[in-house]
Amino acid sequence: MELYQDIRDGVTALCAEFPGEYWRKLDANSEYADKFVAELTSSGYLAALIPEEYGGSGLGVAAAGVILEEISRSGGHPGACHAQMYTMGTILRHGSAEQKAHYLPQIANGSLRLQAFGVTEPAAGTDTTSIKTFARREGDKYIVNGQKIWISRAEHSDLLLLLARTTLKDQVSKKTDGLSVFLVDMKQALGNGLTIHPIQTMMNHHTTELFFDDLEVPASSMIGEEGKGFRYILDSMNVERTLIAFECIGDCKFFIERASSYANDRKVFGRPIGSNQGIQFPIARAYAEMRAAELMTHEAARLFDAGERCGAEANMAKMLAADASLHAGDTCLQTHGGYGFAKEFDIERKFRETRLYQVAPISTNLILSFIGEHVLGMQRSF
Ligand SMILES: Cc1cc2nc3c(=O)[nH]c(=O)nc-3n(C[C@H](O)[C@H](O)[C@H](O)COP(=O)(O)OP(=O)(O)OC[C@H]3O[C@@H](n4cnc5c(N)ncnc54)[C@H](O)[C@@H]3O)c2cc1C
Repeated sequence: MELYQDIRDGVTALCAEFPGEYWRKLDANSEYADKFVAELTSSGYLAALIPEEYGGSGLGVAAAGVILEEISRSGGHPGACHAQMYTMGTILRHGSAEQKAHYLPQIANGSLRLQAFGVTEPAAGTDTTSIKTFARREGDKYIVNGQKIWISRAEHSDLLLLLARTTLKDQVSKKTDGLSVFLVDMKQALGNGLTIHPIQTMMNHHTTELFFDDLEVPASSMIGEEGKGFRYILDSMNVERTLIAFECIGDCKFFIERASSYANDRKVFGRPIGSNQGIQFPIARAYAEMRAAELMTHEAARLFDAGERCGAEANMAKMLAADASLHAGDTCLQTHGGYGFAKEFDIERKFRETRLYQVAPISTNLILSFIGEHVLGMQRSF
């Protein structure tokens, strides 16, 4: 029996209604998983982190992670919906009582989708404090100008959690100061200062470029205090890294289950290919790597849910799980020989989907540099 077995069983049953064929078709046509997301919302899973008083189930990050893990494990693509869960870290901890009362019940019942997280910019890249998108206060509103890139699901979301500068970087004593977070009403913004350009990618991820040209947002849409946004957004980033680690664990399980089953069934030279150590050992290694990453992922979730510092664990979990899923995916492809490349097996699609997590939401190099500097106390390398 695994942790949260009842949730796992429920999500697995829901995912059985959306088999590989469903995801393959979306992938081929670059379509959004509307039906799946609606089903996940109406069955309450997407509101796992929303407190019960606002219509959610009030569960922690570990439970939310298990939901995403089981979607991955079943062969689905949680990239269609995961942002609703990780943006919660910022809103639940730093949103005002009015903001929570207004938005959370609507997000929980599905009348509002919060699926867009706007941080990355073309010039700043990973160097988040160098973002240039600027929100200038004018009376009871802010005027936003700038550009974001790789903002996923923007065309399928009603709300965007946006990070912008409210004081220029050269005017603050600490570079993490002067950044603020806004909850932007996308439907109102579109065509009134916000333009969205889709970007085609190697997997079906609905990512986009956003252009802000004198977009007016009400001052009441700011989360927390002006200038303190970087600290708030870290809560979403740590949850995001932990939840992506859960997804990668789900990918590992998908690949390992498929690989071991195929290794038992496929006969070449008159015996199952899995009786050869050259086939069996890489699958066994993938399992060991997955289990180690899984333990770190649950530790990151436990720390976040306990309100403790979890930056190191969230980063390590994401790196270990992404590496484990990449290795498991490669092993699964190799085990299937030529058939692994056939789209109908879903392995090449899942391999493309899990490859992203070497780069997003934070690349492996940046995680290693975080560990070197902040955990081991070595000199910053850049
Ligand atoms: C499909 C997709 C979806 C995404 N969705 C979102 C989203 O919804 N919201 C959002 O805000 N962002 C999103 N992102 C952005 C993602 O988080 C960034 O791509 C990622 O953080 C890396 O930033 P970058 O692409 O600018 O790479 P860069 O910062 O330009 O880095 C390029 C490479 O150089 C390496 N590098 C950079 N600096 C150093 C250094 N000092 N030492 C060693 N190596 C270094 C990096 O590790 C990386 O491999 C998405 C990206 C993709 C591809």
